[in-house]
Amino acid sequence: MTTVALKDVTKVFQDGTVAVDTINLDVNDGEFLVLLGPSGCGKSTVLRMVAGLEDPTTGAVMLDGELANDLPPRERKIAMVFQDFALYPHMTVGDNIGFPLRLAGVEPTPRGERIQDVASALGIGDVLGRKPSQLSGGQRQRVAMGRAIVRRPGLFLMDEPLSNLDSGLRAELRAEISGLTRELGVTTIYVTHDQAEALTMADRVAIMRKGVLQDVGTPTQVYGRPATLYVAAFLGSPRMNLLEASVYVHLDRYVALNLGEQSLYLPWDDIRSRAVAHYHGERIVVGMRAEALTPVAPDTVGDVLQGRIRYLEHHGHESLAFLDIGATAIMVDEMGAPAETPENGQRGLRRFGQVMQRLTGRTSDAP
Ligand code: ATP
Repeated sequence: MTTVALKDVTKVFQDGTVAVDTINLDVNDGEFLVLLGPSGCGKSTVLRMVAGLEDPTTGAVMLDGELANDLPPRERKIAMVFQDFALYPHMTVGDNIGFPLRLAGVEPTPRGERIQDVASALGIGDVLGRKPSQLSGGQRQRVAMGRAIVRRPGLFLMDEPLSNLDSGLRAELRAEISGLTRELGVTTIYVTHDQAEALTMADRVAIMRKGVLQDVGTPTQVYGRPATLYVAAFLGSPRMNLLEASVYVHLDRYVALNLGEQSLYLPWDDIRSRAVAHYHGERIVVGMRAEALTPVAPDTVGDVLQGRIRYLEHHGHESLAFLDIGATAIMVDEMGAPAETPENGQRGLRRFGQVMQRLTGRTSDAP
């Protein structure tokens, strides 16, 4: 098994592009780490440096605690799966999967057994005699996975392996890949720009933007307590509501968040007050997820904001309400709303169930 550590790793390409900027990241033994970020943020470059396909400009790539900067790719006990999982078209499925074993000089009998084991684990045991052209997209991806795991790598590197597949198949393979890597106990770094993939598959997610690591944590941590405003706005659908507010502490009795035309009053003993009280007199950005806002009856008092429903969006399992609170629009998840949900245009009161920690930056920094 393998651990990976990146220490102050930077990659500047010859044309001056800074693809990766001073990244520090540890991947634990057997962990499934997802590198998430928009196109061009440097995810693939990180992966390629771990694989040895790209040299860091500065910094250290450590594998199992040893400096690996000068270690050739073939000596890294790594298997890679890419988006365009090129299979050999003239070879059968079995030969494709067994190819790395043949290169390594493994005898036909043990090779055949190993191919069978891997193919069964991936649910493609019955198509070993077919050519890649006779397979579905999902089966082809499984063959590519099979070829990657057949030599029992210590480290799996996957670069958007599902992006060429349709969404149903993606969801299915998502579960299979994370299940399989956990069963094998292989340390995995998985690159994607798809946050649903990241949040469902990862033990931990590392979020990048423009070559810089923004946040690393479990899916619950990065979703619930994002380290930067960028991560707050990037993760989650619908996007987090981000509102600029001024903080006023009133004689240790309550904290007011002035949002412009309205204020939100938080009782002093509320943990949310503790989170923002020391910013008395300052402007902060308050983040509120749609699902953390609860509709309440119009006569409710307390930490309540009043909003006018502009429109409702029905998504089958839930509805999303777009509300104007003064000049600002926010989104509220209507799940759990009283049956007499006000129709469009009527007034409703909304209680804010959660206020996030203060984040530095301005709402205009959000993606
Ligand atoms: P995607 O999701 O689109 O694959 P990514 O997050 O994996 O994107 P990288 O492929 O790592 O991003 O690229 C990061 C940056 O480095 C981009 O601006 C890209 O154009 C640039 N880049 C990548 N390879 C090279 C190269 N060989 N020479 C110069 N610039 C490069």
